[in-house]
Amino acid sequence: MAALVFCNVCFRQPRTATPRFSLTNCGHVICEPCLQKGKKDECLICRAPCRTIFLSKKTNPEIQSLFMGLDMLCKKYSREITQISEFQEKHRRRLLAYYRGKIAKLEESLKKATQQIHQIQW
Ligand SMILES: [Zn+2]
Ligand SMILES: [Zn+2]
Repeated sequence: MAALVFCNVCFRQPRTATPRFSLTNCGHVICEPCLQKGKKDECLICRAPCRTIFLSKKTNPEIQSLFMGLDMLCKKYSREITQISEFQEKHRRRLLAYYRGKIAKLEESLKKATQQIHQIQW
C-alpha cells in the first residue's frame, strides 16, 4: 500500500510492525487502536453507521488504487492508453491497406475501361 495512508483519528501512519488500518464505507481510514476505541459498526469520525474492511495487500484492487500515488496512477493509465492506441492503430492500418488495395484494383479497371472506350471511338 503506497502513500497517503494515515489514521484519520490519531494521524499515525503505517510503518513496519504497526497496527492494521481499516477503511470505513464512509471513506475514513482508521487504525486498529482507534477503531477499538469507537463503537462497533459506527464510524468514529462521522458517527455514521458503517462497515469497515482491513487494508492489506489482499484488499480489493479497486480499493487499493484509492491509495495509489498519483505518479503511479499516471504511469498505469499511460501504459493502458499506449496499449489501446497501438491495438487500434494496428486495426486501422489493416483496414486502410484493404481499402488501398481495393482502390488500386478499381483504378486499374477504370483505366482499362477508358482504354476500351478510346479504342471504340477511334
Ligand atoms: Zn488512530
Ligand atoms: Zn466516517
